[in-house]
Amino acid sequence: MYSSSDLREAIEKNQLRVLYQPQMTSDGSRMASVESLVRWEHPVHGLLGPGHFVPLAEKTSLISELGEAVLRQSCIDALRWPQISVGVNVSPLQFRDPAFAEKIEAIVRQSGLPFERLELEIVESSYFDDPDKAEAMLRRLRDLGIRIALDDFGTGYSSLSCLLRLPLDKIKIDRSFVVGVDTIRSASIIHAIIALARAIGLKVTAEGIETEDQQRFLRAAGAHYLQGYLYSAPVPVEMIDHLLKQSDPIRYVA
Ligand code: C2E
Ligand code: MG
Ligand code: MG
Repeated sequence: MYSSSDLREAIEKNQLRVLYQPQMTSDGSRMASVESLVRWEHPVHGLLGPGHFVPLAEKTSLISELGEAVLRQSCIDALRWPQISVGVNVSPLQFRDPAFAEKIEAIVRQSGLPFERLELEIVESSYFDDPDKAEAMLRRLRDLGIRIALDDFGTGYSSLSCLLRLPLDKIKIDRSFVVGVDTIRSASIIHAIIALARAIGLKVTAEGIETEDQQRFLRAAGAHYLQGYLYSAPVPVEMIDHLLKQSDPIRYVA
């Protein structure tokens, strides 16, 4: 498939694109933030999703470059939308870079985006290599005002120790639980996750909302924010401009 030199070239030639997916308030009426999701505009194969190249980047130091390029672009784009914040995914491998926190701080400062409008989406495995180091880096970023969300919650192995140790503001319930809200098992797990998050003062986003039934369930269960194709697929920056201008609740699927 693709080699790391292809990917390096793609970063250098500016072939990475960032799309944005709205996160809505739980009644579905207002966009509270967007999540930034990277794509590779491949000259031959078209728009490639992260599954095609993020794992490759993670095998090399390219993941730091990729992460920094996406963060830089996301901060610049977010300056267009003073009323909302932006969530940026961080690979667990980026935590191996000792200068990770300093680099993030420098990029955000240089962009002019207020730290409070950035949310970093981390995953549980960020914590595996060196929990003390991960905790210290996140504390430093959070002390600046950057918010921290724990993505894909419940799909890793150390969820509860992450909740105990890491400085967090939000958890994102993985789509794999949302898909099964009509089963007692998934519904019970969702209720338990939301109760736990709320008890320790965290906000909750439910990912992968595709149907009205899922929206109703997650809203009643107490999720603060909802994200999914029901509202919008990930879209280019101009489409977020457009969606923020219209007053009707969003119903746009690319
Ligand atoms: P994620 O951070 O959990 O992002 C959510 C994924 O679910 C996105 O896939 C989004 O397009 C998809 N999604 C959103 N709503 C729905 C829905 O209603 N139904 C379904 N079936 N899917 C939905 P995408 O863009 O392919 O990204 C996949 C993963 O790649 C992300 O999962 C994240 O882990 C990673 N990723 C994306 N961008 C970046 C990045 O800039 N850096 C890093 N390190 N990872 C990234
Ligand atoms: Mg994410
Ligand atoms: Mg996720």
